[in-house]
Amino acid sequence: MPQARFIDGRLLASLKGQVLKEKISQFAAESGVIPTLHVILIGQHAASKVYVENKQIACHAVGIRSYVHPFPAHSSEEEVLAKIHQLNQDRTAHGILLQLPLPSALNRQRLLCAVDPLKDVDGLHPYNLGRLMMGDPVLVPCTPKGCLELIRSVKPVIEGLYAVIVGRSLLVGKPMAGLLVNANVTVTVAHSYTQNLDTLCRQADILITATGTPLFFKDHFIKQGAVVIDVGINRLLSQQGVSSIVGDVDIHSAQRVAGFITPVPGGVGPMTISCLLENTLQAAQQQLLSSASSK
Ligand code: NDP
Repeated sequence: MPQARFIDGRLLASLKGQVLKEKISQFAAESGVIPTLHVILIGQHAASKVYVENKQIACHAVGIRSYVHPFPAHSSEEEVLAKIHQLNQDRTAHGILLQLPLPSALNRQRLLCAVDPLKDVDGLHPYNLGRLMMGDPVLVPCTPKGCLELIRSVKPVIEGLYAVIVGRSLLVGKPMAGLLVNANVTVTVAHSYTQNLDTLCRQADILITATGTPLFFKDHFIKQGAVVIDVGINRLLSQQGVSSIVGDVDIHSAQRVAGFITPVPGGVGPMTISCLLENTLQAAQQQLLSSASSK
């Protein structure tokens, strides 16, 4: 029985990292500027702390300076806004990232909108999302950007293909749809109200799952030979108390029909971080250009 090929996100991210490291050192040598990322981490969300640590390690590996600004979970919006405003004014801070999810008492939209769009390395400010929807993107959300690169690594020509994205979040599903439409892919965005989800998914040449429901997507959701991109990160606890990370896709079942599939971990995650590094360099370059042109 044919088995799907894995798309190795770690390998792709590491190749991308080598190129980025070169570019960053060249940029720093020419401009005297070291791209710098500031992460605002609110609360004690265990997974978020791990993601932030991984981002710092990845920054260090390519020559990006990084700082974390921890806030207690009960912080007020005004306290966080004050930090964002301070970083907006700081000419040595090129990227500002608000680590999501936020504690429920905080207004995510208000805080995301406060970030200077030129420093919005997560691409979630309405300006950057708007530019993406206009087909003229500047800073693109990292996870969808990474997913597109994973898809193109096995299917360089995607024009005219049909994609189903399951999940409509601001972080993943909606910007993913914009990116794919811009690439001339025909797109359906599904969510928890979508009917006959398996039938719909089974028509997709490209299936992107971003739901946070562990091992939900099995072989009957997948078209023969499809490219399957599993964004989900879910922690499972076995009866023996052993914890493991799985995606939204049941990989053993899906492998029987898919053509290509991203593993979890080792698929979308490393590419998300790699795109964050790339966005930080891009932000630093843009800020240098805009400060030169305003002189
Ligand atoms: P959200 O919870 O914001 O969104 C989940 C989406 O999935 C919603 O649109 C929801 O529908 C939909 N959904 C949930 N269950 C079903 C279902 N059974 N059938 C159809 N649709 C469903 O999550 P995020 O987008 O932030 O994240 C999704 C997953 O991706 C999580 O596991 C997260 O950890 C992971 N993630 C991974 C990243 C990476 O770098 N690898 C980065 C970001 C996220 P509705 O809108 O109707 O509620």
